[in-house]
Amino acid sequence: MIKTSYLSKTVQELQPSGIRKFFDLAATMEGVVSLGVGEPDFVTSWSVREAAIASLEQGHTSYTANAGLLELRKEITKYMKRSFNLEYDPYHEVVVTVGASQALDIAMRAIINPGEEVIVVEPSFVAYAPLVSLAGGIPVPLATKGENGFKLTAKDLEAVITPKTKALLICSPNNPTGTQLNKEDLLALSHIIEKHDLVVFSDEIYAELAYDEEFVSFASINGMRDRTVVINGFSKGFAMTGWRLGFVCAPYELAEAMLKIHQYAMMCAPTMAQYAAVEALKNGMHDVEDMRRSYRARRNYIVKSFNEIGLDCHVPGGAFYAFPSIKKTGMTSEKFAERLLLEEKVAVVPGSVFGTSGEGYVRASYASSFEQLQEAVQRMRRFLENL
Ligand code: PLP
Repeated sequence: MIKTSYLSKTVQELQPSGIRKFFDLAATMEGVVSLGVGEPDFVTSWSVREAAIASLEQGHTSYTANAGLLELRKEITKYMKRSFNLEYDPYHEVVVTVGASQALDIAMRAIINPGEEVIVVEPSFVAYAPLVSLAGGIPVPLATKGENGFKLTAKDLEAVITPKTKALLICSPNNPTGTQLNKEDLLALSHIIEKHDLVVFSDEIYAELAYDEEFVSFASINGMRDRTVVINGFSKGFAMTGWRLGFVCAPYELAEAMLKIHQYAMMCAPTMAQYAAVEALKNGMHDVEDMRRSYRARRNYIVKSFNEIGLDCHVPGGAFYAFPSIKKTGMTSEKFAERLLLEEKVAVVPGSVFGTSGEGYVRASYASSFEQLQEAVQRMRRFLENL
């Protein structure tokens, strides 16, 4: 028998993701309408799949450069320029990674020293705090509030900064709240970042899924480029979750440090996926626009429906998640999600898995067909009426 005492203390202390429990339960049931998964319901564009097939036909089956195919890095820098008005050097300031997940991991490990604090804005993506811990850092949760539409304010940020604070980790548009920070919000934060000389990890994986206001990259705010690690990728906006492809853009010294870890731990990102991503950036933006339009229509439907059936729901500016309040029911978010699944076979994720400030809310992904969304709303209405 394997002894748990062999395990590292950090790993022993890590809690498994709370999302898994609900997926495991839902997987054993028939007829479930799932608003649980955090991935697009679109299949990757055909031209992108075709580019991967062509790369295999041409025999491109070996490693690429550690930092990624130069052609892809060049396309990424063109994309950063045209979409966010940011300039990066494709030779030294871009690393192609195995999803935004690995980008986050190497960013933490390259920058955090043991005992340094990283402020994690909550409710947040479930991987953030564990990744900070695995890098030896201390995740410091910073709660945002539903009353403010889950926006991070400069005042709240400054209140949690200590002499040990090294970095801030933000995500806009956010998973799970869908909240997007606009230029004004980011500008206010930038003054605090500058004052306390912090690094910013800016997870911009949902940048392509902004519905009402223009998406602004944190690195494009005056003075922030040189202290920001931009984390992005192809999973969400380009509907490419299974390809496992992301990237980081950062100033030379930080990108080179991340590349050191990447070259030892990963060698390079999958080669055929990199060829696919070149095509996605060159010719795939129309499809991204179509998908964005479709998500926006579904966002409008689900938010209106939730409010109509009595679940107060702010309008999320981006991503594909609605985060309605279930406080009126008097249940915890876990109880609500469990009963909704067992009684009406609708899967949502309890807000508490995204941090304590997510309690009182559930995450509903609207990356499902309109028919599925309508069915889910009908079942949820019945569930609430029967309480
Ligand atoms: N960052 C956020 C906020 C996410 O929601 C996710 C996936 O759900 C990721 C990063 C990971 O993305 P990838 O598939 O590129 O690893």
